[in-house]
Amino acid sequence: MRALHRALRRAAKVSVGAVAGAVACAVVGVGGADGADVFAKTPSVPMTMVVVAIAALMATAVIRRMQFAAPSARAQRASYWLAAATDLADLELALTLVAGAHVVIAVTGGLESPAYPLVYGLVAFAMTVLARPGAIATFGAALLLEGALLARSGITEHTALAAGLHAIYLGGAAFAHVLLLRGLTARYRRRRAARLDEELSALRESAKDYRLIAAALGPASRAPRVRDEEERLLAIGGVGMIGDSASWVLATLKRSLGARTVALLWIDDDGERVKLKEVVSDADDITETPRLASAGILGAVVRDRAPLLCAATKPGQLTYYDGGRAGVALVAVPIIENTHLRGILAADRDAPFTEADRDLLADASHQVLRVVQSEQVFRAVERAKYEHERFYQATAMLGRALTPEQVMETAFDAAGAIAEFDVAVIAMYEKDRLRHRVAAVRVRPGGEGIVDVATLTDLEFKDNAGLASMVVKNRHYLPSGGEPREVSAPIFTRKIKFEDAKSLLVLPLLAADEPVGTLTLVARAEKRFGKDVREMLAVIANQVAISLENGFLYKKMETMATTDGLTGLTNHRTFQTRFAEMLERAARHNHKFAVLLCDIDFFKKVNDGYGHPVGDEVLRRVARVLQEVPRKIDVPARYGGEEFAVLLDNVDVVQAKQIAERIRIEISKVVVDTEKGPLSVTESIGIAAFPEDGRDRTTLIERADLALYHAKHTGRNRTVTWTEAQAAKTKLKAS
Ligand code: GH3
Ligand code: MG
Ligand code: MG
Repeated sequence: MRALHRALRRAAKVSVGAVAGAVACAVVGVGGADGADVFAKTPSVPMTMVVVAIAALMATAVIRRMQFAAPSARAQRASYWLAAATDLADLELALTLVAGAHVVIAVTGGLESPAYPLVYGLVAFAMTVLARPGAIATFGAALLLEGALLARSGITEHTALAAGLHAIYLGGAAFAHVLLLRGLTARYRRRRAARLDEELSALRESAKDYRLIAAALGPASRAPRVRDEEERLLAIGGVGMIGDSASWVLATLKRSLGARTVALLWIDDDGERVKLKEVVSDADDITETPRLASAGILGAVVRDRAPLLCAATKPGQLTYYDGGRAGVALVAVPIIENTHLRGILAADRDAPFTEADRDLLADASHQVLRVVQSEQVFRAVERAKYEHERFYQATAMLGRALTPEQVMETAFDAAGAIAEFDVAVIAMYEKDRLRHRVAAVRVRPGGEGIVDVATLTDLEFKDNAGLASMVVKNRHYLPSGGEPREVSAPIFTRKIKFEDAKSLLVLPLLAADEPVGTLTLVARAEKRFGKDVREMLAVIANQVAISLENGFLYKKMETMATTDGLTGLTNHRTFQTRFAEMLERAARHNHKFAVLLCDIDFFKKVNDGYGHPVGDEVLRRVARVLQEVPRKIDVPARYGGEEFAVLLDNVDVVQAKQIAERIRIEISKVVVDTEKGPLSVTESIGIAAFPEDGRDRTTLIERADLALYHAKHTGRNRTVTWTEAQAAKTKLKAS
């Protein structure tokens, strides 16, 4: 009941003007204003009142129409009468103006009046400016009043002709304006659409050119970047492209619509908020603060997913203005991608927008959406390209690595090119012993503290219930989703803990389907080893396995070529090379070094007394002492037969003699168990030092040999330097 009451009151309020206009027309139509009466000496009071009333009504209608503000969009949706308010305001203006014009005509001579062009002008104005109901009302009322005037004047041939002519002129004026207006609008729209298309395709071309150039230059022209950096640049490029294209569309729209502001608002992923993405505006009170998607007048577009035309906004409604600007005309369209609302394209200005403007905006919104979509495709393609480049680079790197150590380091690089890990571990699997041994560990910056590298290095563990063992058994990577929470088993042993690892992958290293070890990758960040990454890593892991096999083979061949088969010491040829290198280095850097020549005493007796195999065993045991006593930088070698040579880097002759003594003593302690009881040997050592005793290889060897000879001749089981040998000789000669 109250609703009905309110509706009636609302109806009365919005239509009172139109009714008044209709009444005015009716009064004029029935002859309420008569020229003869007006110009009489004493105009009748009712006549004067009618003329004055209509004049007042006209003035009010004009003012009311100018000040008219359309009800809010929500109000318009709520009430039929409020939705019709704008049309009724037009009707009021149209009817009172026609009534007024006919008062003027009546006063200036009725059908003969020279004021008729006033009516034609009125009709032309209404056709051009007013919406359809107002235009039709103007035309209809003018025709009706014309008919009424004819009827009042009495239908004669003359009056009928005049009225007919007037009617034809009225129709002509209306028709001409409709045609003109429609034609102009259509042409304007076509031109705008063509310009929009043209500039957009130019833009697309330039974007394509840019991409093609980037692609043609190839990856080599680009500085190597880490994955995140590459992603970021791609994203910036993408956002930049969206921004450029979108702001161009917006600027074009603004020009075409004569808008104050054209804004592209984007809705965040959860649909909660809208953010101003792009804007072109003459106003300086634009705010970029994200708003609730449901807020303000644009909230209606989000809710209804339908375009919106509003003649005047209410205070606080237009959220992309700081104060929410009131009283501006607004047109807004939703941007929808496969049924998902992505954003809103909106424009505002002072003059109301038409349906044609709205359609133009809708077209433009499709262009904006296309730009965003093509950018998404660009990014996906770029990402795939990036991944493939990295993949081929990684495999190429592995192909170049020679030794197992190089292969492992390269394997970490290759894996790093594909996945962002923090810690990587390669463990070799020894099938015969059923044991795993950690062979290499890589901790990348930021990965410190995930695992205790010291305990991990060279860790050996049995085939157990750990992930590495399972992976070797199953020949497939684990965990299948790349996340540690999928599994409860330790990776290697319970002792080795990986702190806050959120991504984990243990890959088998399969060479010809045989597991040779595992590659374990750990990262603190989540989801580092996605499906694509896992697949690529699995392929890389097999490449690593094959490269490792090759690496071991290479190492074996290299060892065979450079070492002595019986003792495992550097062979004679390699010794000479190392000797030359050491000599060169020492000469260049002013270092000292020494060369020892060692010969086992009475070795023939060993062979003769115990047999050749025992002799060989003695050689092996002596070689082991030579490997153990000197330092890592020194080079023990089998010089030939039962003679050994040792290069001692960075020592003077005194230090050399000390080391030689230690060797001599250690050798004398060696006991070889034989069938004939324990066997011990002794050794004589000759020493020559660089640079005092010689500056070239031949001299140094010669003098070391002389010293050795001296040691043999002065009782054996001795170490003698060349200087000592010389001194002894001179003494001998002197005596
Ligand atoms: P000296 O104290 O004077 O050195 O006496 P020696 O018996 O050791 O004499 P010499 O150094 O000339 O002995 C060389 C012997 O070493 C000859 C050879 O039978 C033996 N020999 C050389 N190469 C090998 C080897 O590879 N295995 C074995 N078992 N014996 C070797
Ligand atoms: Mg000898
Ligand atoms: Mg000997």
